[in-house]
This record gives sequence, structure tokens and C-alpha cells, in this order.
Amino acid sequence: MSNGSAIDQRYVWHPFTQMKEWTDPDTPPLMIVGGEGAELIDEDGNRYIDGNASIWTNLHGHRVPELDEAIQEQLGKIAHCSSLGMASQPAAELAYGLLKMFYQDSEESDWQHRVFFSDDGSTAMEAALKMVHQARQQRGEANRQTMISLSTGYHGDTVGAMSIGQSPLFHQTYKDLLFPTKEVMRPACYRCPYNQAKPVKGQEARLSRKCHFECVGEMKQAISEAGEAASAVVMEPSVQGAGGMAMMPEGYLREVADLCQQNGLWLILDEVMTGFGRTGAPFACHKEEVIPDLLALGKGMTGGYLPMAATLVHDQIYEAFLGEYEELKTFFHGHSYSGNPLGAAVSNANLRLLQERGFDQAKALEDNLQQHAPLFWELDHVGDVRQEGPILAIELVEDFSSAQSFPFQRRIGHQVCQECRKRGLLTRPILDVLVLMLPYAAGEEQVESAASILRESIEAVLG
Ligand SMILES: *Cc1c(COP(=O)(O)O)cnc(C)c1O
Repeated sequence: MSNGSAIDQRYVWHPFTQMKEWTDPDTPPLMIVGGEGAELIDEDGNRYIDGNASIWTNLHGHRVPELDEAIQEQLGKIAHCSSLGMASQPAAELAYGLLKMFYQDSEESDWQHRVFFSDDGSTAMEAALKMVHQARQQRGEANRQTMISLSTGYHGDTVGAMSIGQSPLFHQTYKDLLFPTKEVMRPACYRCPYNQAKPVKGQEARLSRKCHFECVGEMKQAISEAGEAASAVVMEPSVQGAGGMAMMPEGYLREVADLCQQNGLWLILDEVMTGFGRTGAPFACHKEEVIPDLLALGKGMTGGYLPMAATLVHDQIYEAFLGEYEELKTFFHGHSYSGNPLGAAVSNANLRLLQERGFDQAKALEDNLQQHAPLFWELDHVGDVRQEGPILAIELVEDFSSAQSFPFQRRIGHQVCQECRKRGLLTRPILDVLVLMLPYAAGEEQVESAASILRESIEAVLG
């Protein structure tokens, strides 16, 4: 067997995929053989706009000369060496670069975090959870065990990351494997039970909301219920990705950070999706001037080139691990490819590109998408159009005024994305939430084309 698509259908198991459908011989898989800028190219030479930036990882497009060269240059030296018992220049440089981006204008003497490298978003979160758990014990605070996290939060698929995720759809089956956590209402205005405002066409629910910030009250109550057992609050700041591009009202993160500070809780921010300019700032925490105790980064860190991730951790947590060897305070955790020099080299080039042009392009993309948002509101079944930085999300509903969703079995979002594919746009829905999350390098014409394909495809499915 030499035909890639036949081998794939016979032998490969794809993630988050119903394989009974995938292996249908009448629908061979889309085989991608190349990429260029914001486009992907299939084996027949068809081009598609990469509408979800290759699952939210890609920042500058595909085959970016600066990124390709960074990898080639590092390959000329060494592809990988372990981080156990040795250090490498690219990984050291990356730790410095990440902290510089995180601390922005602060003096280096004020930096108070360290960087722990791993392989992907899930492992960056897993490391954060284990650091917190162990640090609490080594600080004599073993009673502080409870992690508090938001409904529909998503932090990855490893067992620890699932435990703090609150995604019934993905995690129900595994619930006996998970450690207990405390779930708090998510601050998502469109479907918030406290929001008294009726949906208004053309107005994002976040901006027309009528409420008293009850979501903050709910967090306050959860922290007080957890009492002395409370250890940390975990959340995706600004936008919950897999939770349906649920966007938070301004000020929520600041309030939660203050509550953590007042109650001795650590704040773990998962910026695996929101990091590196995805929400209109280098990191989403910058928008509310919040400095988390732990920050998980992944996806865009390598510009979408290689799997590599990082956990930034505050010195007060790190210091709990210092001691004599026999005290066994070491963080006994790590991965074979921790600090991978190739991944670090391309990440370093990515950070440079972001400063040189990426952040400016992200801003231009944000403005560009904003121009197209009104066109979606005109469609009957569009319930909410929301945008944060260069992320645009369109939520389809059966009924506008009640915000009633379609039955999930109808797979409306999926059908719309199938129509998009026929027209040259690839993106994945989250149930009936459609996402436009292009590489920052996408040009005006590509944005225009992505938006009009998406609109046509919604009409093709829903009339
Ligand atoms: C994708 C994602 C993860 C998991 O990252 P992987 O690289 O898929 O393991 C964790 N948190 C958030 C917010 C994500 O979007």
C-alpha cells in the first residue's frame, strides 16, 4: 500500500474524530501537501484559506522564510539534546525572550518568574498543576488542595488537565479518573442567566449586557466556600477557546486576580490559545494588567511550527522546591524533549517576528475582521457575533430572540464548515460556533474571501 490516503483510512486514528465516518471510502481524507502564507494546498493543487490557523497554532503563515531558516540553522548544529544535566543556547534564549515579552516594559531586576519547558499545551498545564500541588505541601500548606476553575474551561486532554477542565462533552466518560475540583460559572454574557438584556441584532452580548457582574460574585462565593482548602484559580483569560470562543466582559480577570490576592490563592492562567497576540495584546493578562502566578503557553509559541510549550512560574512557588538533595523537594517531572533546541530556535525567531511585524499584522487583521462582522448579523440564524482581537466567532441559533440552539445532532456548524471547504476555506466549528482565526499574515483579500465564503456557507445550510 503506497497511497497515503488509503493508508491513512486503513491505519491512522485521528484525534477528536468519529472514525466510522472518517474511514468511509466514498470520502477520502483531505491530503495536505503544502502551505504558503495563510493558505494550505492539497494533493490536487487546490488552495484553501487556513481559517483556524491550523487549530490555533499558526501566527505568521506557512513556509515563512525567517522561521524556516531558524530551523535550518539550528539543524546545522544539533536537533535535540536532553535538558537533564545540560543546557542549550536556544532554550536559554527562549526563556529570556518569553519573560521579556511577559514583563513588557519592566526592568529585568523586577522579573520574578522562571520558565519550565514541555511539549504541548496539556503538558504545560499538567506541570503547572503538579507544581502547585507540590509547592503547597512543601510550604506547609498541604490543606490547600482545591483548584477552582470555570465551566466549559478547556486545558487539554491529559488526566490532570481534564480534571480542571469542565467540559461535560469531552470528559464525562473519564470522570472516575479525575481529581475533584470546584466549578464556577463562566463569565460568558451571551448565555448568562444573569444577563437581563434581550439579544439585539448588531450588538455583541458582552457590550449590551445588563447585569451586576454576578459572575464575579459567584467566584467570590466559590472561593469563600472552599475556604482554607482553596489552592488556586485556573482559567483561560479573555476567551475560552474550546468552550465555544466564549468571551469575557472587561474587568472580570482583574476582579478574579484581586480575589486570589486577597485570599492567598494562586492564579494559573492558561494562555495556550490566547497567547502571542491572539487577543490583541502580547498576552491576554496584559489587557487587565494582571500578573499570574503561573502562565501556560503553547500553540503559537513556535509560530505553529513545532510542538513545544512553557510554564512560567513565580519565584515564590519555585523557591518552595529548593533544598538539600535528601530533602526530596525536587520537582520530579519532565519530558524527553523538554527544551528541544529546534523548537526553541523557531520560537525565538517567532518572538522576533512578532515584534518586527506580527503584532502590527494582528492589529490590522483585527480591524479587517471587524469590518466584516456586520454582514453576519444580517443572517436570521446568527445569534451572536463576537470578537476579541483577531478572533471572530459567529454563533448560530435556531431562534434569535430566545437564543435557542439547534439540536446538536443536526451538526449545523459541521455542515457549514463542509460547505466552506467546497469553497476554499478550512475551519472547524465548536458545535454551532463558527470561528475565523486566521494567521496574522492573512492579507485583506484573504480576509474578505474567508468572510464571504463563511457567510455563503451559512446561507447554503440554513437558507
Ligand atoms: C489547545 C489548548 C490546550 C491544550 O493544548 P495541546 O497542545 O492540544 O495539548 C490547553 N489549553 C487551551 C486554552 C487550549 O486552547
